[in-house]
Amino acid sequence: MAEKQDYRPMWTELGLDLEGHDGLLKVLGDSYSEVYLHQENRPSAMEYFDFVVSEAHGLRIKELMDAKDEGRKVIGTFCLYVPEEIILALDGISVGLCAGAEIGAEKAEEYLPRNLCALIKSFMGFELAGLCPYFRACDIVIGETTCDGKKKAYELLEDIKETYVMELPQKKEETDRALWKAEGYKFVEVCERVTGKKLTPDNLKEAIRTVNDRRRAQLRLRDARRASPPPISGRDALLVNQIAFYDNPARFTESVNKLCDELETRTEGKVSPGDNGAPRVVISGCPMALPNWKLPFIVESSGADVVAEESCVGERGFRTLVDEDGETLDEMIDNLVDRYLTIDCACFTPNPERVEHVLETSREFDADGVIHYSISFCTPYMVEAKKVEDALSAAGIPLLKIETDYSQGDVGQLQTRIDAFLEMLKARHS
Ligand code: SF4
Ligand code: SF4
Repeated sequence: MAEKQDYRPMWTELGLDLEGHDGLLKVLGDSYSEVYLHQENRPSAMEYFDFVVSEAHGLRIKELMDAKDEGRKVIGTFCLYVPEEIILALDGISVGLCAGAEIGAEKAEEYLPRNLCALIKSFMGFELAGLCPYFRACDIVIGETTCDGKKKAYELLEDIKETYVMELPQKKEETDRALWKAEGYKFVEVCERVTGKKLTPDNLKEAIRTVNDRRRAQLRLRDARRASPPPISGRDALLVNQIAFYDNPARFTESVNKLCDELETRTEGKVSPGDNGAPRVVISGCPMALPNWKLPFIVESSGADVVAEESCVGERGFRTLVDEDGETLDEMIDNLVDRYLTIDCACFTPNPERVEHVLETSREFDADGVIHYSISFCTPYMVEAKKVEDALSAAGIPLLKIETDYSQGDVGQLQTRIDAFLEMLKARHS
């Protein structure tokens, strides 16, 4: 077996707090082992994703640093609306910087109010506490005007790292589309300046295909989970979709397709990590950034199968592809604009598409119930939960609304509520 590489010199060079970072890796390793490695009957192709997680702060960061030595640029993002095709076309590397752990929150609270969404506190805390090698590797970070908390946090980030904020409209009318297209062109200029490369129809066409291929693989994984019993656990599927935000896209696509080959065989043999006949649950709402596995772990440990995620680290991230027929740059930018405006984040108003999608997904996956997941203090999703609740109630699909953060303090209380919800779903079956 090859000896594990010592990454400490690289982390020192990146300015990480080595002691704090050791603590983070220890907590992550323990949590990963509990949530993932103890599952029974896991697809063997998950080995690749286990490896990626084990090397998330090691080999992957080394790849980024080696690429930078060759003159490539690393561009950090926090939201699905940032068109990564443009970054890729210019030979940049796009990495998602959203974070899903409580470590660093204390540091973040020196700058931010306590009553702010945990996702924002987490990505700010990771950087401020010197724990995030991805952030440190970035040449620039790209924000966006989605929710208020993020917008204002980007103003603070600017003091640490070059930050560019894309103006995202809040409605989807013609004038909003025009604004978003203009923002697309401004983003091209920023990326061209940072990478020193020029966007051409050829490099953009190829990037569109690469990212679409990744989405197609994720859609294939999604479809595999429609089987009863599902051939993969919800938490494993979530992990794959979390890794999509920072892995090499072509390698990731190949690994997901390999996993799907295995899942399709498992489905024929009815091989599943869960129990046959377990309640099928869809989780809908806020994104779950790595390593936020809290809710699916509780739900699946309580005997249900999570079969789909109506979220940004789920369906919302790969539901629609970019039209690949464009030939000129302007046609391709138009196609990007149209595709990105199909994303149904609760930051938009009105946002009826999302309610429709929750209904469609629940029906398509034969869900017994839906758990609506809001990160505490996330106003857009917490308020939109009412529309989702009304639509599901009219369709006769039970809903449980959860508000939580990244701490473990409420696990007992969540467990009790989820157990009661699952008991109710089982009783409806019998
Ligand atoms: S929930 Fe909205 S703001 Fe957050 S990543 Fe998704 S699209 Fe962006
Ligand atoms: S989870 Fe909600 S509050 Fe937090 S960053 Fe996303 S939209 Fe904003």
